[in-house]
Amino acid sequence: TELLLEVDNLQTHFFSFDGVAKAVDGVSFNLKRGETLGLVGESGCGKSVTALSIMRLIQSPPGKITGGRILFNGTDLLKLSNEKMRRIRGDRISMIFQEPMTSLNPVYTIADQIKEVFVNHRNLDKKAAFKKAVEVIRKVHIPSPDKRAEEYPHQLSGGMRQRAMIAMALACNPDILIADEPTTALDVSIQAQIIDLMLKLKEEFNAAILMITHDLGVIAEMAQRVLVMYAGRVVEEGTTQEIFDNPLHPYTRGLMNAVPVIGRRATEGRKRLQEIPGVVPSLFDLPKGCAFHPRCPEAFDLCRKMRPDMSAEPGVHRAACWLAQPRPGEIQSCPAEAP
Ligand code: SF4
Ligand code: MG
Repeated sequence: TELLLEVDNLQTHFFSFDGVAKAVDGVSFNLKRGETLGLVGESGCGKSVTALSIMRLIQSPPGKITGGRILFNGTDLLKLSNEKMRRIRGDRISMIFQEPMTSLNPVYTIADQIKEVFVNHRNLDKKAAFKKAVEVIRKVHIPSPDKRAEEYPHQLSGGMRQRAMIAMALACNPDILIADEPTTALDVSIQAQIIDLMLKLKEEFNAAILMITHDLGVIAEMAQRVLVMYAGRVVEEGTTQEIFDNPLHPYTRGLMNAVPVIGRRATEGRKRLQEIPGVVPSLFDLPKGCAFHPRCPEAFDLCRKMRPDMSAEPGVHRAACWLAQPRPGEIQSCPAEAP
């Protein structure tokens, strides 16, 4: 299958008076056409920063992509001019967010906003663009699309706003859709509908989805492959089956064991993960060695001294844990090379 995106040793750092936070520190992965890749981890692990880096939407200052490559169909997005990147963004690669109000403009109607995408990326005149806008609004199953098209974001329900944002993101049949916690703010029943919709549209457009979530249920339902991030780094990669059946990294196992509990606020009624014991470390002050060691039930001496790298190159089941790879001093030399 066609390789759409190749992220290679991506580094995105934030500079402040407290020092440098390596929000993304050497992240590598591939995304193929037609697949849904899940990106999981607790908040602050670098999932959103990874996504925003791919979109080249990191606010600078304080953020900066300081290294690596992001190859889209072989072209390094990090080397493109702002103008060329603008043409790709919203056209070939688009993104939807947890809170539609952050990407929908409250003072324009839904149709006006989707219309813009066609005017900017397809050079359509206003009338043709409006027709196309209503078409995509229909495609995401917003009822009475002609009427809803003329409404403002605040007039729609949360689920409908999310559909409108998906419509805007998919307007130009992008190759890649990046979805950052797109269902987190929605009721469970609406969540399922939105996931269904995204999967159907992905099939129709033969696109790829990078699905960012902390919800392993969403991953199980949507993703063929999974990346697990912790403290700015990928700590495990595998097929969804490998990750669920045979998680290699203690952090992944922790995520699996985190039992969903009903949110404390009764009005919320939303499931949330029971946290893994211990706290997410500050990116300004990461533990020495394996960043997970203070929380790891399986930590041993070496973990506190040396940071394990990923055990293999992207594309296979791999992990960054001393339990999943040879330790220094244990590495066997090849007999044929021995003197
Ligand atoms: Fe735990 Fe050590 Fe593996 Fe880190 S390297 S996850 S501390 S066992
Ligand atoms: Mg986030």
